[in-house]
Amino acid sequence: MPYDVIVIGGGPGGYVAAIKAAQSGMETCLIEKGLLGGTCLNVGCIPTKALLKSLDVINQAKHAASFGVNGIHEEQLSLNLAEVQNRKNQIVGQLVGGVEGLLRKNGVTVIKGEACFLNAHTVQAGDQKIEGKNVIIAAGSVPKDISVETDGSIPVYNSTDILSMDAFPESMLVIGAGAIGIELAYFLSGIGVRITIVEFLDSILPMVDQEISLKVKEQFERMNVKIHTGARVLKIAEGRVFFEKEGKQDSVTCQAVLMAAGRSPNLKGLNLETVGVKTEKGAVITDDSMVTSVRGIYAIGDVNGKSMLAHTAAMEAITAVHNIKGEGWIMDYSRIPSVIYIKPEIASIGLTEEQAKNKYGDIKVGKFPVMANGKAKIEGEETGIVKIITESHYGEIIGVHLFCVHASDIIAEMSLAMKLECTAEELTRVVHPHPTISEMIHEAGHAAAGKAIHF
Ligand code: FAD
Ligand code: NAD
Repeated sequence: MPYDVIVIGGGPGGYVAAIKAAQSGMETCLIEKGLLGGTCLNVGCIPTKALLKSLDVINQAKHAASFGVNGIHEEQLSLNLAEVQNRKNQIVGQLVGGVEGLLRKNGVTVIKGEACFLNAHTVQAGDQKIEGKNVIIAAGSVPKDISVETDGSIPVYNSTDILSMDAFPESMLVIGAGAIGIELAYFLSGIGVRITIVEFLDSILPMVDQEISLKVKEQFERMNVKIHTGARVLKIAEGRVFFEKEGKQDSVTCQAVLMAAGRSPNLKGLNLETVGVKTEKGAVITDDSMVTSVRGIYAIGDVNGKSMLAHTAAMEAITAVHNIKGEGWIMDYSRIPSVIYIKPEIASIGLTEEQAKNKYGDIKVGKFPVMANGKAKIEGEETGIVKIITESHYGEIIGVHLFCVHASDIIAEMSLAMKLECTAEELTRVVHPHPTISEMIHEAGHAAAGKAIHF
């Protein structure tokens, strides 16, 4: 067989798998039907955060006077959305070019085309038939179609549409308050779009610790975002979105709808039935070593629907490659950090307080308020909270929830701590530099093990 590994899809799952496989001495090819970098680089993680950074800059500029900076007047500030998009496109272009270069440098053969299985070891892309000993499916996901009945009176956009717009309607209704709905609602509201959010479940960001989810809701309401939780969208008609809440029908007039009701694994056209790769609820079934129901075929990233995050995809990629080499790696899904990039940022790992109580009964929760941290005051970012949850037998950390500035960076320390099965008491022995936001981790450790020092 010409290839040891064929990778289908060039997102953060696929391109990491291809690079790692090639670095391990395996003859590797990667088939991509669209753009290298996949959803993450082109229409996901990177472009959303680039837009949010522009919003952050203008918001900081608005507060310049309180830092003693003269000459910046709020009424003169505005976002040049075309420039915001240009900057985003440049960042995306550079990163996609970087992936292309890395694949080349590592000797991965990149084939442009849509891959489809002919048998377990042969994949067709265009008019090429490519044979390999192992295949890694990394075909990603697409926006979920929840097929809301519409008369077409209001345009319905998805996240990809929003990311390329340089003019926005005055009002939008966002369906879904998960990561996409909340990040984009934050951006759109920040640039002046009147936002209403309709979420099916009882809280926004249902996967986030409830105490933090409530604080985010209050913050959004202060931003004049209207939120309807426990509400189901029924139809779009005559310029209104109709939804049902607590048994009653309600409706909202808006100029556009953003559909952010989740994403579905992208299995279209892969011909998985032919090779016997089993699926469940539209996702490829794998075990924790990333093997599918067919030996030699692996599925990583969004396509297996386990944890639709770029860093999960990349770790699953590395896990799959090690397993192709016979090294017996497994994925640990209980310790995957996740971040919502609003301001302050929300970063979490492990169990929420509610999940921890359900699982362990007796738990300890160490909290530290952001307003008591020196660096947060210096930064002018005093809202939020840091929580560390431990089980009460050993004091092992089982969940960490940060709602604070720089949360996305400091959560990595807690990934390492949890990987090493660290206890709150051990955390109190770890020296943290001063003044930093990370000191709140240390303080929350003290709080979980007994009592915080600075609060
Ligand atoms: P993808 O990145 O979707 O890549 C799959 C690739 O496979 C695509 O390039 C596709 O063209 C290709 N492909 C599909 N079928 C075929 C075929 N038959 N033949 C050849 N090629 C094929 N995650 C985070 O961790 N952090 C974030 O901040 C974040 N923000 C996001 C913001 C938005 C708006 C969205 C939509 C997602 C975000 N995500 C974020 C999720 C993240 O983008 C995905 O989890 C990640 O991209 C999954 O990687 P993947 O490699 O599995 O799939
Ligand atoms: P999601 O699953 O996180 O959220 C979708 C939300 O829509 C849920 O809260 C759900 O209850 C709600 N919903 C579903 N159907 C609905 C309906 N009919 N009416 C009202 N609400 C409805 O999905 P997402 O926000 O679309 O994001 C997709 C994936 O991309 C997720 O797995 C997410 O983790 C990932 N992502 C991650 C980040 C990040 O890490 N910062 C950012 C964006 C996206």
